[in-house]
Amino acid sequence: MSTPDRASREALIAERGRTVALLDSMSARLAAVIDATADETADDEHDPEGSTLAVERGHLVALMDRSRVRLEEIDAALDRLGHGAYGRCETCGTPIDPERLEVLPAARQCVKCAMGNRSGRW
Ligand SMILES: [Zn+2]
Repeated sequence: MSTPDRASREALIAERGRTVALLDSMSARLAAVIDATADETADDEHDPEGSTLAVERGHLVALMDRSRVRLEEIDAALDRLGHGAYGRCETCGTPIDPERLEVLPAARQCVKCAMGNRSGRW
């Protein structure tokens, strides 16, 4: 069992690295957008560029929230890996399809349960 666990851990750590890098670049972009917004006059309702920046800011904040959730999922998966609970569906307890884990290394549920899960989580 140690070899698949190690592969899973590596996949999770790689995924974590990508997510952290993405968060970093988005937070740099967000800081730039906030700076640009601060340069605008207060009257940005009539300023097309100001409202574009506001839209981009909202978009970035939403993306960053999603990436933070993903990071939590990855950390939770690494934790499960640490005590042998990794790769089992949290809902029904059956082993999660290895192909699914390859695509979504932090998956908490088997495909069947994930399909029935309306919260939008994996
Ligand atoms: Zn299940």
